[in-house]
Amino acid sequence: MLLEGFVQLSVDRAQRFHEVRNAVWRQTSMIGMSDEVILVNSSESESMNIDPVCPVCQSHEWEVLGRKTWTVESMAGMDPIFRRRMRVVFEVWLPGSTDFTAQSLGCRQCGFVIYSPRPTAADIDNKYRFLTSIKSPEVKPRLDSEENIRRCNEIIVPVLPLWPQAGRVRVLDFGGGDGRLMQRFVERGADCFVVDYVHETVPGVTRLGDTLDDLPEHIEPFDFIISSHVIEHVAEPREIMGQLRSLLKPRGAHLVAVPHEIWRAAPLQPEPVTHVNFFTEQSLQALFVNTGYEVLHSSTRAVPTSGIMQTEIVVVGRPSANPGVAPNGYDRLKQLLNPDLMTYFWWFKRHPRRMLRQIKNRVLGK
Ligand SMILES: [Zn+2]
Repeated sequence: MLLEGFVQLSVDRAQRFHEVRNAVWRQTSMIGMSDEVILVNSSESESMNIDPVCPVCQSHEWEVLGRKTWTVESMAGMDPIFRRRMRVVFEVWLPGSTDFTAQSLGCRQCGFVIYSPRPTAADIDNKYRFLTSIKSPEVKPRLDSEENIRRCNEIIVPVLPLWPQAGRVRVLDFGGGDGRLMQRFVERGADCFVVDYVHETVPGVTRLGDTLDDLPEHIEPFDFIISSHVIEHVAEPREIMGQLRSLLKPRGAHLVAVPHEIWRAAPLQPEPVTHVNFFTEQSLQALFVNTGYEVLHSSTRAVPTSGIMQTEIVVVGRPSANPGVAPNGYDRLKQLLNPDLMTYFWWFKRHPRRMLRQIKNRVLGK
């Protein structure tokens, strides 16, 4: 079974190499034709990686967990939000292509999951520029909404025990949109900053730029960095974690929250554009350890987001010369894909209502 997976992967890689190379050539030849969207000039080696190494542990041993194809025709029947994101595949990443097949790959070392072909950092940057240019109609909850208030509390609670005894506290929300999650930090008198493509910020929050490259060279370090639902979107999580670590004070802390999307099936999403990284608690801890952080807190919890119960992993780490040993997350990945009784119990504790509904439907034959 495992060997079959490897053989299939090699065959698929060879096939995809030719398909993607042709598509990339078309993309390169079309760049610069649009006057609305500014795309980074891209060469063949910079676009859609068809042979990725693990972005968390740099292993090259993958297990194929699943496969999915999206076509231009299928976009017509899609939810408008998904359709808008699918345009990134067929207009920005692989213009001229009429279908896109991705494989879900699980790392045999750390249990991290990606899909392949994998967008590069330039592809992700072009995605955000494109989506910003077509003005997404996605509405965010109001600042004073119950959801935003709850979210602000969830973000600050894990770092409160680490709050410095003296001095001004500096906080950076990396990828924090308009800075709405920093309300509690603002109220506590912290100097709050945000790095994101969104240009307007809420009161009390200062915007520093689109990306970390826009930061001044000798910026004063931060006490806390927050990356809430950001790391699942980036092409090079190790590089981002390392860059952010270098922006922390020696006793500073970095909180990362990501969705937990691996449960009983490969995480193949309705569209392959929004999330490109799929974590377990173990693989997120491995990302911290492998990029020079000591893990101070780690948990998995269910949180309501836009009315839907989502599972979320939260890890807090601090820069360390001796971060310890990264957990081997492959066994955990297998447990989550094929849960045993203990794993079902672990999931049930976080999702009692969802599981009771599933059991009821099963009994009623729905
Ligand atoms: Zn790995």
